Amino acid sequence: MEHLIELDKKHFIHPTSSIQQQQSDGAKVVMESGDGIYLTDKNGNVFIDAMSSLWNVNVGHGREELAEAAAEQLKKLAFSSSFSTFSNEPAIRLAEKIASLAPAGLNAVFFTSGGSESNDSAIKLVRHYWKIQGKQERRKIIALKRGYHGVAAASTSVTGIPEFWGMAGHMLTDFTHADTHYENGTDKAIASLQETIEREGPETIAAFLAEPIQGAGGVLFPPEGYLKKVRELCDEYGILFIADEVITGFGRTGKMFGMEHYGVTPDLMTFAKGVTSGYIPLGGVIVSDQVHDVLKEKSMGTLFHGFTYSGHPTAAAVGLKNIEIIEREGLVENSRRMGEELLNGFRKIKKELNIVGDVRTIGLLGAVELVEDPDTNKRFAADMKVAPKVIEALHERGVICRAVTYESTDIICFSPPLVINNKEVADMTDKLHDAILSVQNELG
Ligand code: PLP
Repeated sequence: MEHLIELDKKHFIHPTSSIQQQQSDGAKVVMESGDGIYLTDKNGNVFIDAMSSLWNVNVGHGREELAEAAAEQLKKLAFSSSFSTFSNEPAIRLAEKIASLAPAGLNAVFFTSGGSESNDSAIKLVRHYWKIQGKQERRKIIALKRGYHGVAAASTSVTGIPEFWGMAGHMLTDFTHADTHYENGTDKAIASLQETIEREGPETIAAFLAEPIQGAGGVLFPPEGYLKKVRELCDEYGILFIADEVITGFGRTGKMFGMEHYGVTPDLMTFAKGVTSGYIPLGGVIVSDQVHDVLKEKSMGTLFHGFTYSGHPTAAAVGLKNIEIIEREGLVENSRRMGEELLNGFRKIKKELNIVGDVRTIGLLGAVELVEDPDTNKRFAADMKVAPKVIEALHERGVICRAVTYESTDIICFSPPLVINNKEVADMTDKLHDAILSVQNELG
C-alpha cells in the first residue's frame, strides 16, 4: 500500500483536488472493488457510496452484465469512426433509445465522452444554429450563479462558481450569469434573468443553459413556476433553452429526466454520467426536431465538431445495457420511492438535532443543510467548517458523501445508487444522524 501511495504522489495528478494535500497526506483511500451501494478499499474498509461516486453510478457497482456487454462489443468491434458517413449499430440504437426516453420533440443525439464535452458541444451547436440562419451575433450564453457544467473551455465559462474560472485565468467572453433561484424565489430570480437578457441585448443571446436542479451548487431545487417562467422568457426573446441533465438524467430524480418534474421542454438537453452509470465514459446532446431541422436544412459542408470517441460503439453498447437494467429493474420508480424514505430519514434527524436546517430530496438526489439556528436559517461562520467536519465524521462511519461550502453554506449532498433499499437507506441515515450529532456535540 505505501508503495502505491508513493507512486500516486509521484505520477498521478488528481482531478479537482489539492495537489499540496496529496503530496503531504497521500491518497487517503485506494479503492479496490464495488458491489451495489458499497465500495471496498485496498485495506478492506467498506463504505456506503452515498454519492454514487460522482453522482453517476446509477445502477450501483459490480454489474457483471455491463462488463459482459462491454466485453462482447470489444471483441466484435471495439471501435470504429462515426465521422462523415460512417456509423455503427450500438450508437444508432442508443441514439434511438435515448430519443424514445427524452421529452417529446427531442429526437436527435450528438455523442461525446462526458458532461463537459456535452455542454461545450451544445454551446457550439447553438451558435452554429444561429450562424447558419444569418444571426451570428447571437453568441452569448446566459447561465445561473451556482450552476456547475464542467471544466472544458466553454463549460468552465458557463459554470457559475467563480473558483473554476480563476484556476487558469479568465473565463471566455460572451458568458454571463443571472442570480440563482436558491434563496431568491421565482420572482427575484426571473427578474434577474430578464434584467440580464435586457442588459446583454436579447439579439446577442444564443441560449440560456441551466441544470433543472443545481447539483454541485448544493442540490438546489427550482422554486414553483421558475422553469416555466424561464421557458416563457426564452420564447419571448427567441432564446434557446439548454437543460443540463448530466446529473438529473437517467432516473436520478425519480423520473427519467429532471425536466419532466416541471412540465417544461428544453430545446437541447445534455447528458452523461447515468447514461452508462459511469462504467465507461459517455455523454451527449439531445436536440429538438426544430433545431435538428434547421441543421439539416442549413448546415452546409462539414460540421467541424466531432470527438474521436463520438459514437463509440463499446460505450454505446454499455449505455444500451445500462438503460435496459434501469428499465427492467424499475430503478426510476425505486429512486422515487427510496427518495421518499430518505426524506423521512432526514426529517427525523432534523427533529432530533439542533443544527439541521432545510432537508430535501427529489428521487435519490437530496441535501441536508446545517445551520447555526434552524429558526432563522442563520449560517455557521465558514471557518468553522461544519459541513466538512460532518463529511469526516461520516467517513469514519463508513459513508462517502460530499459537502458544498461555497458562499458559506454547509450543505451535505446525497445521491446514492438507484438500487438502494429501505434497510440501506435506514443504515445511511442512522450514520448521518450519528455524524451530525458528534459534530453538534463538538460545537458545544
Ligand atoms: N454538468 C453537470 C450538471 C455536472 O454535475 C457535471 C459533473 O459533475 C458536468 C456537467 C461535467 O461532466 P464531466 O465531469 O463528465 O465532464
